[in-house]
Amino acid sequence: MKTPIIIANWKLNGHKLLVEKFSKKIKNIEKNFFKENTIILSPPVIYIQKMKEKIKNKKIFFAAQNVDFNNKGAFTGEISSYMINEIGAKYVILGHSERRKNHNEDNLCIAKKFKSVKKNNLIPILCIGETEQEKKDGLTKNILKNQINQIFLKCGLNSFHKTCIAYEPVWAIGTGKNASPILINKIMKFIKKYIIYKSKNKNTKIYLQYGGSVSTKNIKSIIKSKYVNGVLVGSGSLDYKNFFKIIKISYKIKKNLLK
Ligand code: PEP
Repeated sequence: MKTPIIIANWKLNGHKLLVEKFSKKIKNIEKNFFKENTIILSPPVIYIQKMKEKIKNKKIFFAAQNVDFNNKGAFTGEISSYMINEIGAKYVILGHSERRKNHNEDNLCIAKKFKSVKKNNLIPILCIGETEQEKKDGLTKNILKNQINQIFLKCGLNSFHKTCIAYEPVWAIGTGKNASPILINKIMKFIKKYIIYKSKNKNTKIYLQYGGSVSTKNIKSIIKSKYVNGVLVGSGSLDYKNFFKIIKISYKIKKNLLK
């Protein structure tokens, strides 16, 4: 397995005190864990700079949870990829199901954001996944294809090279019901093959994440899956003990210190 990528998505949670505590604690994790894992923190964007200053570790990266597709102008309340880059974040989470649902973001809107993120030298973490009903109706692969195709249409054949894709079945997010490792592996394999086929380039490099109720209990079996490069952890990342345990287990699996 390659270096696992572990992402903490705080969503609309956190406060100054948590930023202080989390930053202080993460500084004390054993250095090897930073070397062997790519750790990406995604607190609400206003806390990024503060956390970055406090942690002062080049091996810990930051992601915004959203961005506008415009670079500047009369768009009150929005934040651009240019600005995200300027504050020192490296990644942007795009197409999270909560944004698709609560903010009516469709595939075209997400593709425009994807384009602006790449143009500003940031790395997209594109979330894709089906709802429970779509799964029941046997539509999973079609939904994933549609979510992927719009990016190809808007951003070109090479768009996915060196980007992260998070397979996040909507029915697994915040429900405590994670997808089984067998299903995760099957879907990841499909995503990888489909992107390579569409991009017409077998050297297209993508990093596949799984997200949806990842916990200290299930991380071992998920991270072991052949096609999984890492995990996106939502609510489980707010408790630093929990999150660090997930990082440590991933590290041990990688080093064959844990079966
Ligand atoms: C998420 O926010 O993308 C997520 C996977 O949440 P949770 O881990 O809480 O299911």
